[in-house]
Amino acid sequence: MRVLGIETSCDETGVALFDSERGLLADALHSQTDLHAVYGGVVPELASRDHVRRLLPLIEQVFSEAGLARGELDAIAYTAGPGLIGALMVGASTAHGLAKAWQIPVLGVHHMEGHLLAPMLEEDRPEFPFVALLVSGGHTQLVEVRDIGCYRLLGESVDDAAGEAFDKTARMLDLPYPGGPHVARLAEQGNPERFRFPRPMTDRPGLDFSFSGLKTHTLTTLRKLQETHPASDQDRADIALAFEEAVIDTLVIKCRRALEQTGLTRLVAAGGVSANRRLRERLDAALARRGARVWYPRGRFCTDNGAMIAYAGAQRLLAGECDPGSMRAVARWPLHELTSPSAANLS
Ligand code: ATP
Ligand code: MG
Ligand code: FE
Repeated sequence: MRVLGIETSCDETGVALFDSERGLLADALHSQTDLHAVYGGVVPELASRDHVRRLLPLIEQVFSEAGLARGELDAIAYTAGPGLIGALMVGASTAHGLAKAWQIPVLGVHHMEGHLLAPMLEEDRPEFPFVALLVSGGHTQLVEVRDIGCYRLLGESVDDAAGEAFDKTARMLDLPYPGGPHVARLAEQGNPERFRFPRPMTDRPGLDFSFSGLKTHTLTTLRKLQETHPASDQDRADIALAFEEAVIDTLVIKCRRALEQTGLTRLVAAGGVSANRRLRERLDAALARRGARVWYPRGRFCTDNGAMIAYAGAQRLLAGECDPGSMRAVARWPLHELTSPSAANLS
């Protein structure tokens, strides 16, 4: 089955063609980073308008790159939520319009199911069941994944998401948006002996996270320094490293705990923050010591992309799922409300 995937939940327009027999045929992305950079964050209305501008040309591009004719497409999958409602509606209405014109099925996909299944686009893929660490701009969750659509939430952030904490910390350190990669780069110059930030919620049992205190810790550390002198590049690098180490340590501790609690030995880490090199090194090492292993998406499929939506959509479309009629766009949509494709088919 050949599926066109469309992702417009936030500030990247992602489009891809996935063939369930041959794999990924083409993928294209337009990031709106420059558009929102001056505002220090995503401006929803600007995001929607830019998706409108970019989406159709990107769809043309993937067809031409894949050498595929319109008539060879079997179905369309789009991100139905969660995300910015206006941005989601651009993808949803385009998907439904094209599906109607081409007379093929269309399905709204859960954005986080897309992130979670992104490692399946690689040759070396994890088998079910596994624990998924979803670490992105809007989510930090540990999920027990028994199969596609069988998700049990083990823990999540009670306040900021890990990516959000990176972005806010970047802002305090005068780094551009989105801040994760910039904080990571600055941290490479940091002195690990200088500061030690707390590891929030690791001193008590449970699998929830809290990252907003860490952000405050960054601010107070910075303010204290600035009482005596303006923060130097070295000061900022030392703070970036202390922050990054605290986030990574916390994530690693909770992942280890989640595997212990579930008795599983496979972990999937996905979402933008899973692109972080130091996080990968630390997770790999910590899990290897316990005979467990981690799978990641390739770097560019950690952040938002059309390929993960095409893949997730294909799994459900193959099982016979499709939108009954009207398009779906939902800003809030908990992942654990999903059901397995076969179960949805029976009901
Ligand atoms: P969600 O998927 O929860 O709706 P989102 O789609 O905005 O949110 P993603 O695109 O998955 O999130 O990831 C973007 C986030 O990942 C940003 O917060 C960004 O700072 C962070 N990020 C990207 N690369 C890195 C990195 N190397 N280190 C740390 N954080 C990173
Ligand atoms: Mg983004
Ligand atoms: Fe995302």
